[in-house]
Amino acid sequence: MAQANRSFDVVIVGAGFAGMYMLHKLRGQGMTAIVFEAGGGVGGTWFWNRYPGARVDIRSLEYSFSFSEELENEWKWSEHYAPQPELLRYAEHVADRFDLKRDIVFNTRVEAAVFDEASNRWSVTTDGGDTVSAQHVVMATGSLSVPTNVDFAGIEDFGGTIYRTSQWPHEGVDFSGQRVGVIGTGSSAIQSIPLIAEQAAKMTVFQRTPNYSVPAHNGPIAEDVYADWTARRAEYRLAMKSTAGGFFNDPSEQLTLEAAPEHHATEFERRWQIGGFHILGAYADLGIDSEANKVAAAFAAEKIRSIVKDPAVADILTPKDYPWGTKRLCVDSNYYATFNRDNVELVDIKAAPIERITAGGVKTRDAEYSFDAIVLATGFDAMTGALDRIAITGRGGVRMKDRWAEGPRTYLGLMVSGFPNLFTVTGPGSPSVLTNMVTSIEQHVEWIADCLLWLRGRGAATIEATLEAENGWVDQVNEIAAGTLFPQANSWYMGANVPGKPRQFLPFAGGFGVYREICEEVVERGYEGFAVG
Ligand code: FAD
Ligand code: NAP
Repeated sequence: MAQANRSFDVVIVGAGFAGMYMLHKLRGQGMTAIVFEAGGGVGGTWFWNRYPGARVDIRSLEYSFSFSEELENEWKWSEHYAPQPELLRYAEHVADRFDLKRDIVFNTRVEAAVFDEASNRWSVTTDGGDTVSAQHVVMATGSLSVPTNVDFAGIEDFGGTIYRTSQWPHEGVDFSGQRVGVIGTGSSAIQSIPLIAEQAAKMTVFQRTPNYSVPAHNGPIAEDVYADWTARRAEYRLAMKSTAGGFFNDPSEQLTLEAAPEHHATEFERRWQIGGFHILGAYADLGIDSEANKVAAAFAAEKIRSIVKDPAVADILTPKDYPWGTKRLCVDSNYYATFNRDNVELVDIKAAPIERITAGGVKTRDAEYSFDAIVLATGFDAMTGALDRIAITGRGGVRMKDRWAEGPRTYLGLMVSGFPNLFTVTGPGSPSVLTNMVTSIEQHVEWIADCLLWLRGRGAATIEATLEAENGWVDQVNEIAAGTLFPQANSWYMGANVPGKPRQFLPFAGGFGVYREICEEVVERGYEGFAVG
């Protein structure tokens, strides 16, 4: 580490989009900052998740930084939904353009952060054995950066190769001529399955729970679309800030059951043809009214039946036990049609669970399958996983992990009481994973940077969330979630994918625009709910 044992205004953990923008922003304010990144390069999600088919589910024009007009002018996206290599190139470009790498220490994991009450400073220790001191810490550690630890019996016996979508080899994988098993059917699997199927001799997909997926209808961005975006970009970027998800999907105000069945059919079809998350905006009550939701679910089921030729396979692919849209909708290219291929087989492991991985493949209750390679697309310890893995110690020697034993508690998803001067970007209790994450990241980074400037102006040593404000916010987050259908799904939003994780709806479901206004009002009222020392 080039800058060992130094003192900084801010330590930033993570060099994904959040950490990179945080560094740039703080530098612009004349603050000293260092970034520690466990990976060997910038880009976070797009550095790690290099599986075939990895790409955005929000249009790239919107899933990109808006803070620099120059950056926007010089970068041109090739497709509506850019693929991972292009997103990684974008992250690299941002790092080079703003000369970020000189303050980023790669291949270095932060293991501990301890607040010293006498000096009001944090000591941050890395796995390289370095300790640095900082007044503030920003955890830009990512909401989906820690893969779940699936522990199939016998996994160490497998004689072929096991790949994880979230830790894909940088040199890529050639599955030509191979028999490949894919475990999982979340977004990562749904993106990779069509491409692996094109290459492999035979592919078997092990599905525990089917997901709802919509087509991306991806393709190059037409020149006139680009011209319009460029001409009206400032207007669009401003409008995005008031949307529920930090992106555009033309949300309707109409209630589902007030519309005629013929309207349902045409409206869902129109939005299906546009592709992506447009369909989420079809009616205003799809996420809160069970009867309305069933209309969307029926449309999705019919779509699956119309694409997948074998009715038994279509039936297995159709979700039945949770409301439509209560897990992050998958956005695919050719997913359902892939099950019409002769070399693709679907195995329902809810009906016949996987018993073990064997030397030759996978054994379920009913059968044994032989593979050369197994792909684990089994998801992440979302929102709290990266924070839980750092020994964060606040006032009175309290560990954040212990404070959160019953589930995470934050004020605005930005700070935790008892942990002064430590901020989280897109943390639990903020809109985060329900949104276009770049929009959310920009809002959080800018809020934190403004806050640090304000503290400096007052000569303040500390800021922290009050317990009262934190309790009020947690209640508000829970109440809003309880008014939606989200809690009815065993999703990673609920912590349900990690055994033993407390069941709690993790993000703020009140909408990005509403949340941003709340954050601004808190500032206008003199950082209401924060104690400044
Ligand atoms: P990340 O990109 O996750 O970066 C966090 C970084 O912190 C990582 O590089 C990690 O190595 C590092 N880190 C963590 N802990 C430590 C530690 N202790 N010490 C040092 N370094 C550490 N969101 C969308 O809005 N649209 C999408 O289309 C979309 N697609 C996605 C596709 C995939 C496959 C995944 C996994 C997520 C996707 N997301 C998407 C969510 C995505 O995570 C965000 O869009 C965004 O990239 C998050 O940026 P970040 O900087 O907050 O976190
Ligand atoms: P995920 O949605 O959590 O999916 C994990 C899959 O693995 C699920 O099908 C799950 O089944 C299965 N699984 C987990 N453990 C298993 C076990 N022990 N045995 C059998 N099956 C098991 O994870 P993900 O696909 O990586 O996606 C996570 C999130 O990342 C997404 O929701 C999205 O926000 C983001 N993402 C976005 C994109 C994109 O389109 N841009 C792509 C990838 C990821 P159960 O459902 O039964 O648990």
